[in-house]
Amino acid sequence: MAGIYIHIPFCKQACHYCNFHFATSLHHKDRLLLAIQKELEMQSDYFEDNSIIKTVYFGGGTPSLLTADEINRIIDTIYRNFRTELLEVTFEANPDDLTKEYLISLQDTAINRLSIGVQSFFDVDLKWMNRAHNHIQAFQCIENALHFGFKDLSVDLIYGSPTTTNEMWYQNLRKLIESGVEHISAYCLTVEEKTPLNKLIKSGKSKPVDSTLGATQFEIMIEELSFAGFEQYEISNFAKNKKYALHNTSYWQGAQYLGVGPSAHSFNGRQRSWNISNNQIYIQSIEEDELPRQSETLSVADIFNELVMTGLRTMWGVNSEKLKEVSKLYFDEFDRNKSSLIENGMMRFTDNNYILTSKGKLFADKIASDLFILE
Ligand code: SF4
Repeated sequence: MAGIYIHIPFCKQACHYCNFHFATSLHHKDRLLLAIQKELEMQSDYFEDNSIIKTVYFGGGTPSLLTADEINRIIDTIYRNFRTELLEVTFEANPDDLTKEYLISLQDTAINRLSIGVQSFFDVDLKWMNRAHNHIQAFQCIENALHFGFKDLSVDLIYGSPTTTNEMWYQNLRKLIESGVEHISAYCLTVEEKTPLNKLIKSGKSKPVDSTLGATQFEIMIEELSFAGFEQYEISNFAKNKKYALHNTSYWQGAQYLGVGPSAHSFNGRQRSWNISNNQIYIQSIEEDELPRQSETLSVADIFNELVMTGLRTMWGVNSEKLKEVSKLYFDEFDRNKSSLIENGMMRFTDNNYILTSKGKLFADKIASDLFILE
């Protein structure tokens, strides 16, 4: 199932932990949106097998800084340049942008799924993260979105922050469960090198992040959400009533996708490419008919390892036949290495799929990297 990702590289302010590409000045917004439309035209032949596009994902940055007209222009460009049968159009939005008026305007677009960056229902967390919204907006946006017909809602939360006690984390989860939201993405706070948070911690102006707190809150989350009927269908993603995210699930299953906009990544099954993470150079380059992207051709081992890594993070696991299709030789090595994981109760093998157990999920990334094929 092929998909298109659109990166909107603008934010109102910089969240302290964030290492995505964005600018806080909207100065070049019009030119950048035109460049995104032009890049979509330039990439109309990206999918060699002329795949049908089933999902579109607006991420960022902050897509909710766009007007409905701007969104429609981008979606119309997709319709004009690709074969489409859109099942899911996801739009990342921040709580402070989701006013009633804005939600009403979004009803006139193809968006049928909102992914809201709530992160926490406590002001002490939101202030520490330097988020632009407060706890009232965090509640209000969910109520508004459901009221104005956006039933397919995902909410992002962050755990493991030094301001979030275990009791607050319980409350965040309970509030979300009670809200009626059927998809939750929850990420453990990590300190990335080039972020304000890293500088604040190094200068002693912020408390350091304790990884044991993150591990405890991960376990609390699994217990609470499973009790409330959510499936942990990917390490960081939980869904009720099978409301799995189609776009991200295709990505985890190795499907092709085209990423458009500064810093966006693409994958066509053999090659991975990525656009420059600089708005000004991106615009100039596209205006001069040049794609500002670099690419690398993946080796067979890279493709194999990626299938293992993304597959093991999901509840469907990694399929042995798919692995053999990539390389029988590498599969035999994988098969030998996985035995101790099964004996130790970290992994099980069901219907040709290797699937991590609850115990294994706590160490998903480490297990995947131990199984990697080294060239
Ligand atoms: S709104 Fe999102 S993309 Fe923008 S700075 Fe905050 S976390 Fe990063």
